[in-house]
Parts: sequence; C-alpha cells; structure tokens
Amino acid sequence: MNISHIEHIGIAVDNLKEAIALYEDVYGFKCYAIEEVADQKVKTAFFMVGNTKIELLESTDPEGPIGKFIAKKGVGIHHIAFATDNVTNALKEAEKKGVMLIDQFPRKGAEGLNIGFLHPKSTLGVLTELCGKE
Ligand code: ZN
Repeated sequence: MNISHIEHIGIAVDNLKEAIALYEDVYGFKCYAIEEVADQKVKTAFFMVGNTKIELLESTDPEGPIGKFIAKKGVGIHHIAFATDNVTNALKEAEKKGVMLIDQFPRKGAEGLNIGFLHPKSTLGVLTELCGKE
C-alpha cells in the first residue's frame, strides 16, 4: 500500500490546553495548529517531530469516539497513522488481505487529508489510520 512514513500518532487527552503545555514545556515542541473536527467530535492539536506529527485529541462529546475511548481505557495512545499516497487503494488492498475495515471509503480528517481506519481487531489491537492526499 505504498506507505512512506508514520504520519502521526494520535493521543487521547482529557484537557487539550494542559496537554499542549506539557508537550511544549517538557519536549520543547511547538503546537502549530489547533483544529476542531466536528465529524469526529474532537479538538486536535498538532506538533511536528521530524516527519511525524503528534496529534493530541480532546473529545468534544462524551458519546464521540475519543470520549468513549477515554471512558473505557483512560487517556493515552489512541491510534497510529501511516502516510500513503492513495487511501482509497490502501483500504481496498487491506480488505483484500482480510483486514476488517472501519471505513470502506476515505473521509476527510484534520488538515484536509483523506483518512480511513482499519479495525484494531484485525491489527493486533492497534487502531490504525491510513492517511494521504488521495
Ligand atoms: Zn489521526
């Protein structure tokens, strides 16, 4: 599926403002964007670490995916995202290989990228996102 790098690591947090402060104070990263993704019921903050981003995710609705995740598992690593040139094709390829999909087709994620999730039941318990421009 032509994966080039880890695009980002998504981390579920209780309080975005406090989490940003921690990432800036402890690691010296600079938050370059804060974005609300209404569809996903989250507010996100981004940091660049080399070619990879850290995506902090604060839930805007306890019934949203991050709200439910935190209620069940607590804060922490939520998903890993691989950069691919074509999300549509990558999802098709994964399905052909027997991977259960959360998204049959890509949808719009943060930063205007196409994203699609693979089901953690098929990927050793790791919620995996594929993202890219196509
Ligand atoms: Zn993500």
